[in-house]
Amino acid sequence: MEHDFPQLRGRLTRNKPLSELTWLRVGGPADVLVQPADIEDLAAFLAALRPDVPVFPMGVGSNLIVRDGGLRAVVIRLGRGFNGIVVEDNRVTAGAAALDAHVAKRAAQAGVDLTFLRTIPGSIGGAVRMNAGCYGSYVADVLVSARAVTRRGEIVTLTARDLNFRYRQSDLSEGMVIVEATFEGPSADPRALLARMDEQLRRRDESQPTKERSAGSTFRNPAGFSSTGRADDVHDLKAWKVIEDAGMRGARLGGAQMSEKHANFLINAGGASAADLEGLGEAVRKKVYQTSGITLEWEIMRIGEAES
Ligand SMILES: Cc1cc2nc3c(=O)[nH]c(=O)nc-3n(C[C@H](O)[C@H](O)[C@H](O)COP(=O)(O)OP(=O)(O)OC[C@H]3O[C@@H](n4cnc5c(N)ncnc54)[C@H](O)[C@@H]3O)c2cc1C
Repeated sequence: MEHDFPQLRGRLTRNKPLSELTWLRVGGPADVLVQPADIEDLAAFLAALRPDVPVFPMGVGSNLIVRDGGLRAVVIRLGRGFNGIVVEDNRVTAGAAALDAHVAKRAAQAGVDLTFLRTIPGSIGGAVRMNAGCYGSYVADVLVSARAVTRRGEIVTLTARDLNFRYRQSDLSEGMVIVEATFEGPSADPRALLARMDEQLRRRDESQPTKERSAGSTFRNPAGFSSTGRADDVHDLKAWKVIEDAGMRGARLGGAQMSEKHANFLINAGGASAADLEGLGEAVRKKVYQTSGITLEWEIMRIGEAES
């Protein structure tokens, strides 16, 4: 991307290796990384940016495989200036760069139950975009509204209806950057909420490779699968189980591995490339299809270009 970019008060870095910014520690360079100082800075930058330049908003990279050739785009990463957390009655307003865990803790201290966010390692922007959730609660259940900056630089307010939440998905127009979200949670005793979060952390550490470099669940659980084929069949088939049945728990490709601890976690066991990780994931999908006839769907987003 050989042209000039609009001025901004924040930082603009060319050729920024995204491996430094993703949980899996892989990914080639972004043409340009932009870290705006505040909402107005972001809005002015996007308004002045040539409309044909692709924009990719990035959170903390906990749900991404960025391919080894990197991203031909302006990557927007929010930092200081976007991480405030304000609690008013049962409403919690957080900047998009605030970490889910911090928001959950601040809310709990004020007696507001957003505990499900405690163990999700992303940022609020990523949580809204992905309709993040666990233990039966999702962003969709608690979101009041979100503020965002459009690709053209307009500041807009979105409701849950506008976002049209679905499983790990929402509707955001191309290049739109979420800058803030307001949630409303039920009131509860802060001590009970803190205890619940401790319990959730313990459960995670017990069952998932939380200390490894991963991007969370690799594939969706194959919902809709029925062992009898009847429409009313109650099914609870887990991705980890079909991966294990296909003999792929612990499978390796280069530095990539399907975790021994949780078969649906793809980890960078050391020196993996994005091609190793994606290649292993594809090998798992193929093997699972051969052994059980189930087509696993990726939950981790894969973006950018392969290395040429
Ligand atoms: C160990 C581990 C456990 C996990 N457990 C869970 C879980 O229980 N439940 C769950 O839902 N997820 C889980 N995840 C996945 C991940 O944490 C979530 O998807 C999270 O919401 C992603 O947030 P992020 O900030 O890292 O976004 P990124 O991974 O950086 O980006 C994900 C998507 O969000 C978009 N995005 C990010 N910020 C913005 C913004 N400001 N404006 C517009 N779009 C934006 C990106 O463009 C991209 O499309 C887990 C991940 C790990 C590593």
